[in-house]
Amino acid sequence: MSSVQIPSLPAGAIDREHPDYDEARMLWNADPTIQGRPLAILRCGTVDEVQAAVRLATAGGLPLAVRCGGHSFPGHSVCDDGILIDLAPLNAVIVDPEKRTVEVGGGALLGDVDAAAQAHGLAVPAGIVSHTGVGGLTLGGGVGYLQRLHGLTCDNLLSAELVDFNGDVIEVDAESHPDLFWGLRGGGGNFGIVTKFAFRAHPVGPEIVTGWVAWPFEQAADVLRMYREQATDAPRDVLLHMHLWPAGLSGTDLVPEELWGRGIIVIRPSYFGPIENWEQALETVRSFGAPLMDTVGPASFLSLQSTFDDLMGHGENHYMKAANLRSLDDGAIAAIVTALNEAPNEFCEVEIFPMGGAVADVPADASAFGDRSFAFLCECTTSWQDPEDREISRAWSRALHESLEEFSTGLNYMNMLFDANDETVSAAYGAGHWDRLREIKRRYDPENVFRLNPNVPPTEAPA
Ligand SMILES: Cc1cc2nc3c(=O)[nH]c(=O)nc-3n(C[C@H](O)[C@H](O)[C@H](O)COP(=O)(O)OP(=O)(O)OC[C@H]3O[C@@H](n4cnc5c(N)ncnc54)[C@H](O)[C@@H]3O)c2cc1C
Repeated sequence: MSSVQIPSLPAGAIDREHPDYDEARMLWNADPTIQGRPLAILRCGTVDEVQAAVRLATAGGLPLAVRCGGHSFPGHSVCDDGILIDLAPLNAVIVDPEKRTVEVGGGALLGDVDAAAQAHGLAVPAGIVSHTGVGGLTLGGGVGYLQRLHGLTCDNLLSAELVDFNGDVIEVDAESHPDLFWGLRGGGGNFGIVTKFAFRAHPVGPEIVTGWVAWPFEQAADVLRMYREQATDAPRDVLLHMHLWPAGLSGTDLVPEELWGRGIIVIRPSYFGPIENWEQALETVRSFGAPLMDTVGPASFLSLQSTFDDLMGHGENHYMKAANLRSLDDGAIAAIVTALNEAPNEFCEVEIFPMGGAVADVPADASAFGDRSFAFLCECTTSWQDPEDREISRAWSRALHESLEEFSTGLNYMNMLFDANDETVSAAYGAGHWDRLREIKRRYDPENVFRLNPNVPPTEAPA
């Protein structure tokens, strides 16, 4: 039992005696080694409540964790013996269809934004699982299906309302606080709590084209060679998302029952161009070899955005290392295929996202999301059920990641960085961005109150 006492908690606080405590503190990633036991969980539905919660934590010198969707892979959004600010009730989404802007509460989920924006035929580029939080995803970058056409989520950020370490509110945009605005677009939750985001939205859907084309896993190397050309040469309104499942999928309607347990390599195209041209746009991919399945056709944008919701549901154990690949050289393909063939269990998989397009239009020094040069984000993902499998699964993921190093830019995507420490976080940003982030941190969070994230420690104050 901790000896720390909190003077007085606001009404509605969930303390350790509360019947909802254990459920409320749990992260999406259920790995028991990354969970925490905060003294109290404060669910904040207004900016005032967030301000009061920050002041309560800092007055008591308590660790402070901030949560939006709770999808931090390594579990940054919980703490031990401190205050967890859960922004879930702060999830209002207001769309201005005339200006094509969307205001989003700092605790909203991607599905909240998609549903509200699609009601006006609009979309904010964001991630691919609708129960992910807007907060963490945006502040780290935001990779998703619309990125080749309209950029990352953070590239579409217009302004933010932020509660700082003092509990004061700062309105941030490119004119008022250019340094902080730079840092918020890729620097994670290092500078304060964003209670409201304003985004640029784009006309999308409601009908787009998507589906799955799957080949036998044994043909992975051939399909990957075709994929690397198609994915990078594709027009911006085509995005080819890839999954390699050497042990296949089972118990899901994402693949027909006769293919359950069959190792597959899948390209998941999404097409946002004129609907009548879709077959021509996706012909090369769909006519390659002899696919085991092809479900590509018109679908709603909302269905595209929620396809993986169940497959990536809450309550499983996960680990992942992601590489920023310069290209999918033959060597990288061989490393991926070999690792998957030698996987220690059926939960090891690789997911590949093509970058480029509008992402690469943004200069590297325009925001804290600094690596605009890589062609593919390659996620070496594993999960396990038996705790005995934890270390062997994690070791597999690390080993594949290491073997991809020679094909990588050396930088990393902050939202997919496990094992964060000064060394890995500074290497992930690269020297120029790291120094700039540390200086912004000194200005806006000199005591490092917001440190439960891929942390950027402040520079020393000038003498
Ligand atoms: C199932 C799943 C699918 C994913 N899909 C994608 C994807 O398609 N594209 C992609 O780019 N990434 C994806 N990710 C990675 C995702 O971007 C990160 O895990 C992100 O941190 C999740 O945000 P969150 O708000 O849900 O997380 P949380 O765990 O709530 O927060 C993560 C970090 O952000 C901070 N934070 C959160 N909200 C705020 C806020 N309002 N103000 C200040 N700090 C805040 C937290 O303190 C913490 O440090 C996915 C992750 C999962 C688990």
